Amino acid sequence: FELLGGDFYGYANLLSEQEKTALSDLRDYLDTEVRPIVNDFWNRGEFPFEVVKPLAALGVYSFGWDETKPFENSAVFRGFVALELARIDASVATFRGVQDGLAMGSISATGSVEQRAEWLPKMASGEIVGAFGLTEPLSGSDAAKGLRTTATREGENWTLNGSKRWIGNATFSDVTIIWAKDVADGQVKGFIVPTDTAGYTATKIEGKISLRSVQNADIVLENVVVPERNRLQNAHSFTDTARVLRLTRADVSWAAVGIAMGAYEAAVAYSTSRVQFGKPIGGHQLVQDLLVKSLGNITASLGMVVRVSQMLDEGTQRDEHSALAKLYTTSRMRETVAWCRELFGGNGITLDHDVARFFSDAEAIYSYEGTQEMNTLIVGRAITGQAAFV
Ligand code: FAD
Repeated sequence: FELLGGDFYGYANLLSEQEKTALSDLRDYLDTEVRPIVNDFWNRGEFPFEVVKPLAALGVYSFGWDETKPFENSAVFRGFVALELARIDASVATFRGVQDGLAMGSISATGSVEQRAEWLPKMASGEIVGAFGLTEPLSGSDAAKGLRTTATREGENWTLNGSKRWIGNATFSDVTIIWAKDVADGQVKGFIVPTDTAGYTATKIEGKISLRSVQNADIVLENVVVPERNRLQNAHSFTDTARVLRLTRADVSWAAVGIAMGAYEAAVAYSTSRVQFGKPIGGHQLVQDLLVKSLGNITASLGMVVRVSQMLDEGTQRDEHSALAKLYTTSRMRETVAWCRELFGGNGITLDHDVARFFSDAEAIYSYEGTQEMNTLIVGRAITGQAAFV
């Protein structure tokens, strides 16, 4: 098992031998099969569906769940899985973040034992792709109070009406978790909605400049009827939705470190091959400064996400812990990808050297799963006891 150049303090040495082997296998697959194809898919704005099943075979949707995990593993290991994916391609990492984190995470955290047994194995094997529908055209950051999609119970069925926006994987998902307000008690509840249900439509959002390979959809729900057995049995209010987001925000923080690392590795390679003024540009002091600042950002961020994951295993991780990690690591990522792109000069604005893709993709990661501002307010509330956003 080789430490990555960006893992300067050797955090991966915390992993068990079994975890290191699983990570090496994933890295080999990503290097040989995924790295060569992603720029082309990004350029065309299409998703490389051929990666879905091989990633399942490597366990990337299985590791986190009691029903499917191939061996006991740590949250730090699962974080490194997100990092490895993102340092090759943020879109593939986001696909997995939606499938494994948001969709399977919702079922695991808020589903009944029966629901977990029914859905998680099929999703872990990649047989079924999931999506997570919380955001709406008129409610993004204000997802709790501003949610307009309604759920009305009649006997053993629920009828859903409303619309969703930005829903990742939803152009091709088999099931989408829809969060809707129960008209009877006003609380947010979750529903496992098969996407072939009458009244459900999903339309691809075109023209993105970031995460072009991941597909996002606008969803319309018109009298969509879902049986009570598809209501997530332990999702009683938005507090339960927030439990899912706490976990996925930590995952996104790891992906942010991976994106910064991917850009940094490309920059290091370029700094030794590109010659100006008679020597590799890496021999110029100001270019070294860009590399060293980038490595500092990555190293600080990695230390943070390692600790946040350890806190999950210890049972001490709270919303504000993952919110601080998300806002801090994505800010450092944004600086880092800009410095690394700068190091390429003009060649940094084409897809040829990967760095332009990391640079563009960083913008979506910076804004999704809670913007910088909203995560700041979550931490601010924890520090002061005052919620500034209600
Ligand atoms: P808004 O909430 O309209 O915010 C606009 C700006 O105002 C932001 O800068 C925000 O920080 C600021 N702002 C808002 N309120 C405050 C306040 N009180 N104080 C200070 N500043 C404030 N959602 C899903 O449900 N499922 C998905 O799979 C999914 N995938 C996504 C994938 C991509 C590529 C993107 C771009 C988004 C995705 N989202 C998804 C939605 C994402 O979570 C939202 O975009 C995000 O929460 C921000 O909401 P918004 O875009 O509506 O911005």
